[in-house]
Amino acid sequence: MKRVLITGAAGFLGSHLCDRFINEGFYVIGMDNLITGDLKNIAHLFKNAFFEFYHHDVTKFVHVPGNLDYILHFASPASPIDYLKIPIQTLKVGSLGTHNLLGLAKAKNARILIASTSEVYGDPLVHPQTEDYYGNVNAIGPRGVYDEAKRFQESLTMAYHNFHGLETRIVRIFNTYGPRMRLNDGRVIPAFMGQALRGEDLTIFGDGNQTRSFCYVDDQIDGIYKLLMSDYHLPVNIGNPYEITINEFAQEIIELTGTRQKISYKPLPENDPLQRKPDVSLAKKILNWEPKIDRKIGLQKTFEYFKTLSAEELKKEEH
Ligand code: NAD
Ligand code: UDP
Repeated sequence: MKRVLITGAAGFLGSHLCDRFINEGFYVIGMDNLITGDLKNIAHLFKNAFFEFYHHDVTKFVHVPGNLDYILHFASPASPIDYLKIPIQTLKVGSLGTHNLLGLAKAKNARILIASTSEVYGDPLVHPQTEDYYGNVNAIGPRGVYDEAKRFQESLTMAYHNFHGLETRIVRIFNTYGPRMRLNDGRVIPAFMGQALRGEDLTIFGDGNQTRSFCYVDDQIDGIYKLLMSDYHLPVNIGNPYEITINEFAQEIIELTGTRQKISYKPLPENDPLQRKPDVSLAKKILNWEPKIDRKIGLQKTFEYFKTLSAEELKKEEH
C-alpha cells in the first residue's frame, strides 16, 4: 500500500485531498496544527484503518515513522484575513515548513508536491496568467507575507529538485471553492453566502469591477492528483478560466440564495488584484485536465453545505 503524507489535512483543500487518496487506495497520514483548520473536516476518516492524524506544527522538525511515497504540502493560511492576522506564521510555514518537508521527502526518497498559488503573480500585468509570467508582487505590502512565502517556497522546491535531484511538483492554485470552506474565512464566496443566510447586505470591496475565476474543489483536487502522478516538475496552473467580475458574481449569489438584501460597497483592500484568470493550456496539454464543473452547480453544492451549519456557527462570522 502506498503511503502519503498530507500537511494542512484539516483544512479545506487538505481534507478533500485526504478523501481522494483514501478513495484511491492509499494509506494517508494527515498533519495539521489546526491554526485555521478544523478536525470536523476529517472526523469521518478517524475510524478508517488506513488514516492517521498527527497534530503538529510543520515549522518544527517533522518526524514521520516508516516509509513515505508521496508528500503533499498544503499547510498554510490561505485567505487574506487569515494571513493578515497571522503574518509571521504564514511566512514561517511557507519557508521553514517547506524546508522541513523537502528535507523529509529527501530522507524518505518521496515525491513531494507543494501548494503554490496564483498570488505568485501578484496584481498581474499579464492576462490571463501563464506559468512563464514572473508576476507583480509588492513584497512589503499587506499580501506580501503570503505571496513572498509562496514565491520562496517555489524557489526552495526548485533548488531541492536541481541540487538534490528530488522529485518535486508545484501546483499554482487559483481561487477554489466548495464545501468545508470556513464561513468566516473572509473569502468572497463564504462571505456572500454567510451574508445571504444571515439576512445581511452583501459587501463588495471596491467598485466590484475586479475579476476572479472560481474553480470547484473536485476539479481542483483532480488536477492536483494528476499533476502529482505526472512527470512534470515545473509549476502548473490549476484553476477555472471562466472569469467574472465581483459585481456579476454578487448578482449570481443573490439569484442562487434568493436573498432580498442589497449590495453595500466597502473600500478595496490594499493590493487587491484587479484581475485574475488562469491560462490552463499547460495543464490541458500535459495532464489532459480541464475543469468540468459548471459554476452554477458548484455554487449550489457549496450553498447546500453552508445551509447545514448551525445557527451558532453562522453567528461566528463576526470579524
Ligand atoms: P485552509 O486554511 O482551509 O487550510 C490550511 C491548513 O493548514 C489548515 O488546516 C491549517 O490549520 C494548516 N496549517 C497552517 N499552518 C500550519 C502549520 N505551521 N503546521 C501545520 N498545519 C498548518 O486553506 P486551504 O484553502 O485549504 O489552502 C490549502 C493550501 O492551498 C494552502 O497552502 C494555500 O496557500 C493553497 N491555496 C489555496 C487556494 C484556495 O483557493 N483555497 C488558492 C491558492 C493556494
Ligand atoms: N471581496 C468582496 N467582498 C467580500 C470579500 C471579498 O468584494 O466580502 C472581493 C475581494 O476584495 C477580492 C475578491 O472579492 O477582490 C475575491 O476575494 P477573496 O478573498 O475571495 O480572494 P482573493 O482576493 O485572494 O482572490
